[in-house]
Amino acid sequence: MKKQSDRELPRVAILGAGFGGLRVAKRLAREHVRLTMVDRMNYHLFQPLLYQVAAAYLEPSQIAMGVRTILRAQANLSFVMAEVTGVDSVGRKLTLASPPYGIPYDYLVVAPGSVTHYRDRAGIASRAIGLKSLSDSIAIRNQVLSCFEQATVAGAEQRRGLLTFCIVGGGSAGIEMAGALTELIHGVLLKDYPSMTRSDPRLILAEAGDRLLPEMMPQLGEIAMRTLERRGVEVLRGRPVADFTGSEVLFSDGSRIAAHTLIWTAGVKAAPITRMLGIPLGPLGRVPVDPTLQVPANPRVFVIGDAAFVQGDGGAVPMVAPAAVQMADVAAENILRDIAGKPLARFVYHNPGQLATIGRNAAVAYVWGIRWKGILAWLMWLVVHLVRLIGFRNRLMVLIGWSLDYFFHERAVRIIDRSR
Ligand SMILES: Cc1cc2nc3c(=O)[nH]c(=O)nc-3n(C[C@H](O)[C@H](O)[C@H](O)COP(=O)(O)OP(=O)(O)OC[C@H]3O[C@@H](n4cnc5c(N)ncnc54)[C@H](O)[C@@H]3O)c2cc1C
Repeated sequence: MKKQSDRELPRVAILGAGFGGLRVAKRLAREHVRLTMVDRMNYHLFQPLLYQVAAAYLEPSQIAMGVRTILRAQANLSFVMAEVTGVDSVGRKLTLASPPYGIPYDYLVVAPGSVTHYRDRAGIASRAIGLKSLSDSIAIRNQVLSCFEQATVAGAEQRRGLLTFCIVGGGSAGIEMAGALTELIHGVLLKDYPSMTRSDPRLILAEAGDRLLPEMMPQLGEIAMRTLERRGVEVLRGRPVADFTGSEVLFSDGSRIAAHTLIWTAGVKAAPITRMLGIPLGPLGRVPVDPTLQVPANPRVFVIGDAAFVQGDGGAVPMVAPAAVQMADVAAENILRDIAGKPLARFVYHNPGQLATIGRNAAVAYVWGIRWKGILAWLMWLVVHLVRLIGFRNRLMVLIGWSLDYFFHERAVRIIDRSR
């Protein structure tokens, strides 16, 4: 009898177990709906700390947590690990690349996030390393550590290229990567390679625009730049990177720098699955949605997070975790309202502020209408990221890792994983 009534419950499919997808699942945990969540990965990834895996602060497992573990107490949800290849919005079905091949739905929440945007630069896309997935961050760690190893036996000219690391993009991801890498190199690695001097490694942060942190107020970008420069990072502004050969970085003004490593943090675009919705896409491939977060031509489909294009007061809602979480709350609420035949709620983005860390004791922030810098902003950054990380064990391990690094300048994760 119970099974029969369960079968009659509205079916909600959620594409993506990221910040947005997970929040929708949790919001609907106690509701009379049947949830199916699909993700190509079996874990939720805390992307804001990817750079810390890349810079050997943290183990990959400390910023990722199994979806089944997170949602195991949720009786109305089943999880399917599969690649979603299509959306049949007429037949109301998600198409999967592997069994069960299809997932029928009454309501669909599309939350597939974004991918690295190389802006049609094929040389960069094939030879640079992005900072978007766990494998990217492990690849960066392997690359930096391998370059140091190879430099010990290389000739002078090759050694220069091996020890030059170029990060592209002066937004918060690029700044955090640069700050962490300079600490890894100058605070940790040089102790392991006594034959190298402080001036041997070169770390470059290249930004196409004329200032860092364009998403924040100019003064904070200035502070970030001066702090990075004091810590040994060469900041190049107004220098778009045009290509990368694997051993040389080419700038659009024709200049070039010998470097064997290019880390690309200069932007993301919506995940390619958004093309399968069969509607015209907005800037960066994002899906223009109604203020209710529904796809205009298909009110049973909601798009949230990085993949959704929503106009806020100050322009497009940014591709950040708080926006994905706030959209998830509205999408979940609207599904329940639609089932109950009530009018739907409109999404309004509330900006909780902006934070970027530059490394030890240094960060910049704009929170509660106040500018923060230095150790106060850094402590705020630590607390926010620890609280947002999922799982008590991960929080504890990350806290221990950070403390050991802070007091002893040691990183446990200095291994090169040659299997990758
Ligand atoms: C390096 C970096 C640093 C960042 N730092 C911050 C920060 O400090 N603060 C902040 O607020 N935001 C930060 N962000 C942005 C933040 O991580 C994103 O805005 C947020 O993850 C978006 O959430 P989402 O739910 O839209 O997508 P995601 O969290 O990216 O989740 C999308 C999920 O969909 C799955 N998926 C995609 N396509 C398919 C498919 N076809 N089939 C099956 N599964 C699929 C993916 O595997 C993934 O699990 C950062 C991002 C990066 C890359």
